[in-house]
Amino acid sequence: MTRAVVVGSGPNGLAAAIRLAQRGLDVTVLERADVPGGGTRTSQATVPGLWHDDCSAVHPLGVLSPFFASLGLQRLGLRWEWPDIDLAHPLDDGRVGLLSRDLDRTVESLGVDGRSWRRTFAPLARDFDATLLDVLRPIQHVPRHPWALARFGAHAAWPATTYVRRWSDEPARALFTGSAAHAFARLDRPLSASVGVLLTTAGHRAGWPVARGGSHSIATALVAVLEGLGGRVLTGVEVDDLDRLPVPPPDLVMLDVTPAAALRLAGDRIAPPVRRALRRYRHGPAAFKVDFALDGPVPWTNLDVGRAGTVHLGGTADEIAHAEEQVVRGRMPERPFVLVSQPFVADPTRSAGGRLPLWAYAHVPHGWTEDVTETVIAQIERFAPGFRDRIVGVAARGPEQLEADNPNYVGGDIGAGANGGLQLLVRPRPARDPYRLAARLFLCSAATPPGAGVHGMCGVNAAESAIRGL
Ligand SMILES: Cc1cc2nc3c(=O)[nH]c(=O)nc-3n(C[C@H](O)[C@H](O)[C@H](O)COP(=O)(O)OP(=O)(O)OC[C@H]3O[C@@H](n4cnc5c(N)ncnc54)[C@H](O)[C@@H]3O)c2cc1C
Repeated sequence: MTRAVVVGSGPNGLAAAIRLAQRGLDVTVLERADVPGGGTRTSQATVPGLWHDDCSAVHPLGVLSPFFASLGLQRLGLRWEWPDIDLAHPLDDGRVGLLSRDLDRTVESLGVDGRSWRRTFAPLARDFDATLLDVLRPIQHVPRHPWALARFGAHAAWPATTYVRRWSDEPARALFTGSAAHAFARLDRPLSASVGVLLTTAGHRAGWPVARGGSHSIATALVAVLEGLGGRVLTGVEVDDLDRLPVPPPDLVMLDVTPAAALRLAGDRIAPPVRRALRRYRHGPAAFKVDFALDGPVPWTNLDVGRAGTVHLGGTADEIAHAEEQVVRGRMPERPFVLVSQPFVADPTRSAGGRLPLWAYAHVPHGWTEDVTETVIAQIERFAPGFRDRIVGVAARGPEQLEADNPNYVGGDIGAGANGGLQLLVRPRPARDPYRLAARLFLCSAATPPGAGVHGMCGVNAAESAIRGL
């Protein structure tokens, strides 16, 4: 039986492991942490009994992942829960941009820009399942749905700051820009609309749900699938050299790690030209994560925001673009872009003993060392005066701590690589097979296409590439 080892049990490592096990390989996943799941772990970070998502919280791409859908994860306890409103973007004047799965509701909430929003996103949402089959693969492939992909590309190619000019009022402009800012990149550069187009269209196609009970239930379900196929996850095992694995030598190795870590682990198994290309891989700005325990819901000025699962805080489209430019340049903005998840809005099981878990992170420069907890609180207070009085527990993790908890988040870069320039499309290096590092050695982390997010598609694509080579 062909033996495979997967280093790292993030969603991509587990997806790679499952695909290999489905093809009959004997698979062992080695994970340095005590709990599997990588970016889908959940812990009691603030007060006992209250569960916070350590990393990912909201899953527009998880619910749409064709691979996750093929596994029947619901049978294994994964349940997606949708909030009444998927995303809210409050403004200083009390108005708000609201995104709902239901396009009509979104159109209605966006006033003068509603019709244009519909013209933009209705055709994209209609074709989105087909588009995703191409978008979730490396760019260098023959498209399965060329027209749908071409239409998506015609939207994605714009700088976000230009793209939003199709709308005349701030709620629509800010609503889109906040989603584009998930890329942690300058928003005045070509292709910077792409993540906004992807996430907004995903929202209209399937919403932005959370996993019931916390994101760890995604990992729990994936591990159950793997074990059902005869595979296993060994936790508490840090791999620092592929020649010294704590298991019999495998025939195939998949690495759910960064390109730099792959170079360290694999040494001269990787040919010099590939090593040189991987050394050029760039990391992007960072997240500063703050989890709050609250003794009641956030007192948002605009009450609709309290019904949203996700909230983007950063003011106008111009303000967000400026803040993003600053973090890319290595400067800390006075008012950074802040993302908030209120999981209890969709999933009542998340409250415990009258306490509610609020998840937030700010975009900060790569490797930022100062504590910005107060800055995050100030951004929330700006749209919810009195928020501070609801806080009964806080757990903050800056870039250094994020990397210590998971070495894939280099300098706090939670996207596993910068999304500026061509690296958004071509990662980790230009190659016909971007996953292959050497014979029987593959990279399968979010540093490979289609990039960050909990969808498992980097892992599946890498596993398929590995299987082709066997
Ligand atoms: C604060 C934060 C918020 C996020 N929010 C969202 C969100 O809302 N929605 C979303 O879709 N995505 C979100 N993400 C991104 C998402 O979590 C990642 O894109 C995703 O987890 C990447 O999966 P992966 O398998 O490539 O790597 P990871 O999930 O990072 O897993 C890598 C695993 O490999 C292990 N590992 C690394 N090196 C070694 C080694 N040498 N030996 C053994 N094990 C090793 C690590 O411990 C880790 O468990 C967020 C991330 C963070 C940090």
